[in-house]
Amino acid sequence: MEEERKLNFLEEIIEEDLKSGKCESILTRFPPEPNGYLHLGHAKSLCINFGLAQKYGGKTNLRYDDTNPTKEDTEYVDAIKEDIKWLGFQWEKECYASDYFDQLYEWAEWMIGQGLAYVDDQTQEQMRENRGTVETPGKNSPWRDRTPEENLKLFREMRDGKYADGEKVLRAKIDMSHPKMEFRDPIMYRIKHAHHHRTGDKWCIYPMYDYTHGQSDSIEHITHSICTLEFDVHRPLYDWYIKTLGIYPSHQYEFARLNLTYTLMSKRKLLELVQKGIVAGWDDPRMPTLCGVRRRGYTAEALKMFCEKIGVSKRDQLMDIQLLEWCVRQDLNARARRYMVVQDPVKVKITNWPEGLVEWYDCPLNPAEPEGATRKVPFTGELWIDRADFMEDAPKKFFRLKPDGEVRLKYTYIVKCNNVIKDAEGNVTELECTYDPSTKPGGGEWRSVKGTIHWVSCDYAKELELRNYDRLFTLADMSQVPEDKDYKDFLNPDSLSIGRGLAEPALADDDSAIAVQFERTGYYIKDKDSTPDHLVFNKTVSLKDSYKPEQA
Ligand code: ATP
Ligand code: MG
Repeated sequence: MEEERKLNFLEEIIEEDLKSGKCESILTRFPPEPNGYLHLGHAKSLCINFGLAQKYGGKTNLRYDDTNPTKEDTEYVDAIKEDIKWLGFQWEKECYASDYFDQLYEWAEWMIGQGLAYVDDQTQEQMRENRGTVETPGKNSPWRDRTPEENLKLFREMRDGKYADGEKVLRAKIDMSHPKMEFRDPIMYRIKHAHHHRTGDKWCIYPMYDYTHGQSDSIEHITHSICTLEFDVHRPLYDWYIKTLGIYPSHQYEFARLNLTYTLMSKRKLLELVQKGIVAGWDDPRMPTLCGVRRRGYTAEALKMFCEKIGVSKRDQLMDIQLLEWCVRQDLNARARRYMVVQDPVKVKITNWPEGLVEWYDCPLNPAEPEGATRKVPFTGELWIDRADFMEDAPKKFFRLKPDGEVRLKYTYIVKCNNVIKDAEGNVTELECTYDPSTKPGGGEWRSVKGTIHWVSCDYAKELELRNYDRLFTLADMSQVPEDKDYKDFLNPDSLSIGRGLAEPALADDDSAIAVQFERTGYYIKDKDSTPDHLVFNKTVSLKDSYKPEQA
């Protein structure tokens, strides 16, 4: 059963709009700029936009906000779709702001005709100077009073490629002393002789975000245009263009963006990490990108659980990455298949085990599998256990293996350690043990000991390369990088460590689509770098953590 919770402010607005008849059904949109890969912040935006539409029987468009040709690429367009599908969302229409270039251009000519827009020849610097400040009004451009005819001619020449980048712009003619800076004759079009990933070389003028976004929403009849808080200053202009053009009245609403501890979510900086080779690519498992966390083994379900838990607010907050990890653990605990893997091996020799005997155990795969689904685990006279599960001078409370102590080997017998063998440096190399045949599960008498440890048969063990990850950054709040420092100064040098694992043989045949649990240690997922002879696993998250979410 779904937990009862209060409506968030967006749900309140939508319920009110549906009740009052302001709209019959809702249409939201997700508007990525195809200049990078989606990250965890986008997951929040996706969950809100698609989630609200699902909840209220509406729909969501995917709209690429592709007005900036020099930074955009079809590689990103495709990756974005893949990530959205992976999260389990299906858009209604796939749209592109660039599909509206003709319409936007027509509207611009109309505005020129109405005396609402003009071509300005000022340099960027002059425009900045003449814009004024919050305290002081701006100054009109010397070109502000061109006639509509002249403006139209110049604007068409801009379109036809007569001028170089930066030589002219088209501006809305509003008010150079408006108290809101955004209204001081905002730029509508700039010249950019650049190839666009969709429109090719058709255009050498491109519309600005403010002149594009609201109209795109309006063309699609978006009812609720939901974006992050930093766009609230754009809202008045968004409304102004819609009202001036007299087109469908879409409305914009803002929520707080997601910030996570030890995490950066600016596409520009993520791109830098990729380009400088600081990470192995956009899908490096340490990256906060959706393809990165997917490769790391985070599930779409966990991400959605996380977004539901953090909710929707109007105030910026820094969320604890441990809450996300907790969600990943919750989801994987319920679904991940279990396997035994030893990472720091010490040999256990069962001295009373019959020479050459192999016993096969049917061990449960996981709680979510159909009943009786098992993997086959071989037990032989030589086993690997983890070094941490043995202690020579063990304190009383140490319930794993120790000299003259007993421990249960998971799924099988109780063994006792009789002799500790060491090399010349005093490192333990082998533990001679005996097994108690009467303690076989399902047969004999049940006898319990305090500790149970995992193990792997030496004869059947499969070698693994383990990639263990830690946080990419060492600073909890990455918005607090001091002025005299760079965010790269806070890279964690130990964010990747390569280890080795010895796995029970069934792991090599595992075909689960999600991460698996290495019993007693953590969740790991097979990496795409694996070959049949060289298995590579990424650590998703450790099995346990002292962290507990507040309301869980
Ligand atoms: P970045 O600053 O990382 O480059 P962006 O805002 O430029 O991100 P867009 O592709 O323009 O990225 O974003 C698409 C949508 O996702 C926008 O509606 C944006 O508000 C939202 N979004 C981006 N980052 C976050 C975040 N950290 N939390 C929530 N929503 C976000
Ligand atoms: Mg953006």
